[in-house]
Amino acid sequence: MDKAKRFFKKSLRNILKFLGITGYSDSFKKYVDRDNARSGILVSSIVMVLEFYMICYVLYHMLMDSKIRSYAWLIQHLTAYAVFFLCALLLYIFSYNFLKNRMTNRWIGKIYMIFFAVVALAFGIFISYLDYQKGEHALAFITVEIITMGIMIWRPITSISLVTGSFLLFYFICDSSISATYATQMNLFTVWLAILITTVGRFHQKAIEAKNAEHIENMNLYLSQVAVTDEATGIGNMLAFRNEVGEIRSKSEADFLSRNFLFLDILNFKSYNEKHGFDEGTRFLNAIAHTIKYSFAGEPVARFSDDHFVVFAKRDALNSTAELEVKLASIRRKIMNSDPEVKLGLKVGSYTPEDVLCHTITACDFARYACESINKKYGVDFCEYTTASAEDFARKQYVINNIDRAISQGYIQIYYQPVVLAKNKELCGFEALARWIDPNYGFMPPYTFIPVLEEYRQIHKLDAYVLQEVCRDILNARAKNVPVFPVSVNFSKIDFELMNIEELLEVYVEKQGIGKENIHIEVTESALSEDDRNLRETLHRLKTKDYSLWLDDFGSGYSGLNLLKEFEFDMMKIDMAFLKDFASSPKSRPILKNIITLAKDIGMHTLSEGVETNEAFDFLQEIGCERIQGYLFGKPMPREEVIEKIQNSSFILPNLS
Ligand code: C2E
Ligand code: CA
Ligand code: CA
Repeated sequence: MDKAKRFFKKSLRNILKFLGITGYSDSFKKYVDRDNARSGILVSSIVMVLEFYMICYVLYHMLMDSKIRSYAWLIQHLTAYAVFFLCALLLYIFSYNFLKNRMTNRWIGKIYMIFFAVVALAFGIFISYLDYQKGEHALAFITVEIITMGIMIWRPITSISLVTGSFLLFYFICDSSISATYATQMNLFTVWLAILITTVGRFHQKAIEAKNAEHIENMNLYLSQVAVTDEATGIGNMLAFRNEVGEIRSKSEADFLSRNFLFLDILNFKSYNEKHGFDEGTRFLNAIAHTIKYSFAGEPVARFSDDHFVVFAKRDALNSTAELEVKLASIRRKIMNSDPEVKLGLKVGSYTPEDVLCHTITACDFARYACESINKKYGVDFCEYTTASAEDFARKQYVINNIDRAISQGYIQIYYQPVVLAKNKELCGFEALARWIDPNYGFMPPYTFIPVLEEYRQIHKLDAYVLQEVCRDILNARAKNVPVFPVSVNFSKIDFELMNIEELLEVYVEKQGIGKENIHIEVTESALSEDDRNLRETLHRLKTKDYSLWLDDFGSGYSGLNLLKEFEFDMMKIDMAFLKDFASSPKSRPILKNIITLAKDIGMHTLSEGVETNEAFDFLQEIGCERIQGYLFGKPMPREEVIEKIQNSSFILPNLS
């Protein structure tokens, strides 16, 4: 029963669809309306030309031809031509205005189209009826059928009604005056069928075309949206941003110059991603993107890349900073509240365009430089672009892009700074310090490249190279019979993640017979933390292998004293900050004294860095600091200078015999 019901329903649906009563979308209607308007122009033009010709033809013959037909015939025909001509003219006006979008009510057009068809068919019937009586063919009627029903698109229900109705009417009118022959009946039937098939067929063909056109239009719409949308967040992408900024630029110079390019960078997003997973990370970015968009409603906002966004924000002349700060603070709050444990944050760089010629992407890059320049600055969240930011950024990029070349081309050189025993000033070792002598930038001090290499996780390349060079220098010195002293080599905390230090020491130190006592391993205090198991275990293994571990920059970091319990260092290198203002600050002495006592109590040796004056040296010697490093005994120097100074006894050398 159900099956029959379903079949019945389906059949009914198909019949209704076939007749053009249901199942056609708005876009199909629009497509057909426009098509009919174009056909309307064509049909009305043909009709107007034909009827004008006919009017002229009849008038000419009336005046010139002696065999003039009756006056009534003339009036009948002229009226019919004129009415048809006027109807065509109206159709032309309707169609033209519809195409120009001046007439939007489709029902007026539809009703008029039917009216025109009825007039046209009536005209055809009338003329052909007159011809039929004279024994001529029904060519006028058939021509009108083809022009109106065949060129324009009709719903099958309408075309079937109009075509069948007009044929029946024509047949009965003619048949009632002169009985139609079998041949006439058959001819009329065949033409009726042909016109019907054509009109219905054209409708369904148009339906398919309209569907394809709709599909293409939807696709175009989708593609044009995708082209300007950021996939992950759904807000605009850089193409959209450039377009919007371009529009502002071309509309109003004043508006353009009253705005700032902002570059927003979410801090620690990587940790958030690692903790919560990629999908949650994307959801978080999405939420933040919409918060930014909401905060800067109506202004160009886009995702620049990863966790970076750009805004072309209005700078209110009166209280610009206050307003901007409120907006940024609310975005920052939202970011930080997403997971207080991850320590998320927001850094913002800003660039004020100087003129309208400024290129959008370059302006975004300037705002980015400004943002990057405060990346590591604790407590600084906003930075306006200056030329210095750009130079900083350029140098950073240079370091990252050229570290491999600098190593392979020998731009990195090792300088050695002497370390002496406090008790007798005898030389007892050196610290190896890297220098980058660049063909473009000249002498680059470590603070310009070490932090950058650490940030971009490239520092292991440098440190491995320094170790290798130090070992080579020791072997060369030995070969030349120059006395060898232990050298301490600096290692960054992330070296322990990025390379296998034990293996490296095995290759360069142990296998080459350098002697473990000749290489000391320096690790900065601030690098240490209790939960870093890998670092602690590696240091422990090095310790059991008899390497001497030196704790660098003691007192400069934020790590607590209890770390001293966790790690097994042999030497405490007291940070040079304690000697700053040594002469003037009365607190320096008791602090240093206590540090030395503490180190001794827990079994660590001591070394003071940054000793520049005899006064400081005397005090350190007095309180029992064992080793001294500082300009008082020598600045970091190239290997050749070290060898020369050892050979000509510029240093106090221990009795080596
Ligand atoms: P650091 O390990 O604390 O090195 C001591 C720094 O203090 C050196 O600066 C040295 O030139 C400077 N110095 C020594 N005596 C005095 C003094 O009496 N007065 C003053 N004012 N300064 C003195 P440098 O060579 O500029 O190195 C800076 C930092 O760069 C180093 O601090 C170290 O943390 C890092 N570094 C240098 N070379 C390397 C390296 O090969 N690898 C790694 N990972 N870091 C390195
Ligand atoms: Ca050091
Ligand atoms: Ca140090």
